[in-house]
Amino acid sequence: MIINDKTCSWINDLSLRNNIKTLKKSMSCDWLIVGAGYTGLSAARKLGQLHPNKKIILVDAQLAGEGASGRNSGYLVDTTLNDGFTSNKELKNYKKKTDIYKLGIQTVKRFIKEYQVDCDWNDSGKYFASSKSNDEIHLINFGNTLTKLGFQYNLFSQADLKKRLGTNFYNLALYTNGGVLLHPGKLARAMIDALSSNVELFENSSLLEWEKNVDTIFCKFKNANINTNKIIFCTNAFLKSLAIKTNYNFPITLTASMTRALTESEFKSIGQPNEWGVLPVKPMGATVRMTKNRRILIRNTAEIFNPFKMSEFDLKKRSIKQHIGIKKRFPQLPSDIIESSWSGVVSRSRNSSQIFDIIDNNVYVAGCYNGSGIGVATLFGEQIAIKASNESTPEMETIEARKKPTWLVPQPFLNLGIRTRLMYERFIAKSEI
Ligand SMILES: Cc1cc2nc3c(=O)[nH]c(=O)nc-3n(C[C@H](O)[C@H](O)[C@H](O)COP(=O)(O)OP(=O)(O)OC[C@H]3O[C@@H](n4cnc5c(N)ncnc54)[C@H](O)[C@@H]3O)c2cc1C
Repeated sequence: MIINDKTCSWINDLSLRNNIKTLKKSMSCDWLIVGAGYTGLSAARKLGQLHPNKKIILVDAQLAGEGASGRNSGYLVDTTLNDGFTSNKELKNYKKKTDIYKLGIQTVKRFIKEYQVDCDWNDSGKYFASSKSNDEIHLINFGNTLTKLGFQYNLFSQADLKKRLGTNFYNLALYTNGGVLLHPGKLARAMIDALSSNVELFENSSLLEWEKNVDTIFCKFKNANINTNKIIFCTNAFLKSLAIKTNYNFPITLTASMTRALTESEFKSIGQPNEWGVLPVKPMGATVRMTKNRRILIRNTAEIFNPFKMSEFDLKKRSIKQHIGIKKRFPQLPSDIIESSWSGVVSRSRNSSQIFDIIDNNVYVAGCYNGSGIGVATLFGEQIAIKASNESTPEMETIEARKKPTWLVPQPFLNLGIRTRLMYERFIAKSEI
């Protein structure tokens, strides 16, 4: 059972919903979608449009949109310097990755336009920033890669960054004007509201077991069963717990904290910067963001942890790290400024590729976005619904042109390998946390 904390500021910004239904009686449907984050909500929306007369059921183990989709950092990216702990080395692969990001942004943009969504969209671009002058070489190499692919960028010094970000923590940064900052919870909520009437949503309804028998897929829940003709798995970090693509993805738990809104005088003390987002140069460095309403978000942990639950005690320990991260960057702000801390789980693969697959007749899966899933999950959700309807699109060709995730070594070697790698990455990024 997935038990998420109730302390995520993004989710607590939203109004309470009053249309929550839990699965209580057994039923049959044409399509079952498991997992109601950006992927499942987008798949359900698309299926609802494509098959207005079919019965479509969407289930989630917790409240829809309150997994990673409602609790991420809100960077809708066009480029990334790192995928988890994989840096971008090959130009050809990097291009394929950015082609997918581009389609992801277009898909979210189209959704927002069509449904008139307010999710604090800001085309602010983003900074890849470091406090270490010797990271300059990484940024110059990254800049060369961006130039070859036609992306614009600027390099900024500490003095520029002080003005732009309100902190002199960073010594240098590469700024790209592509990419968007948004409110992840508002986006997820808009996707719930956009579901068509032929999509029935059941929440707090965890799929426990499933089995395929000739043309019917039997799905067992706590209080009832669902029989379906087709199924799409959109459980991302929880694919493994349903025995899906087990040897190709693994969950990583992240934690983040957000301050309360800065007061007028606190905001003046940091120079009243516009909204901004910083991504780290070293994979395990901190993601730090100034939000539209002057809150500061920081995410600086990534680890192997029980993906189903993090105790208050464990969360508090991580929140202390985030407090230190804020203090390092903004020493003038008061010590009790953090308003909330939360955890969330993402799915990673070894080669940082995503999953978009048919695993059996009428059994589909999309997920594993390696920490950059806002745009890609929205894109993959729509496209897996189209694929499952036996149609194809140019977008699908782009998705399928990318390498599939590579095979992972079995346990206990896998966790041992990941832990060692994370420890090493944390060590080399220790100044950036
Ligand atoms: C702290 C944090 C920061 C992040 N920052 C960014 C960022 O800035 N930019 C970015 O692009 N991405 C970011 N991500 C990643 C991004 O949030 C995810 O890639 C994206 O939300 C994945 O969407 P999804 O729908 O596939 O998965 P999820 O949103 O995780 O949805 C999967 C759903 O499946 C449900 N589920 C699981 N098991 C079952 C079951 N057995 N039965 C029924 N339902 C089940 C879960 O409850 C969950 O709601 C971040 C993630 C975290 C946690």
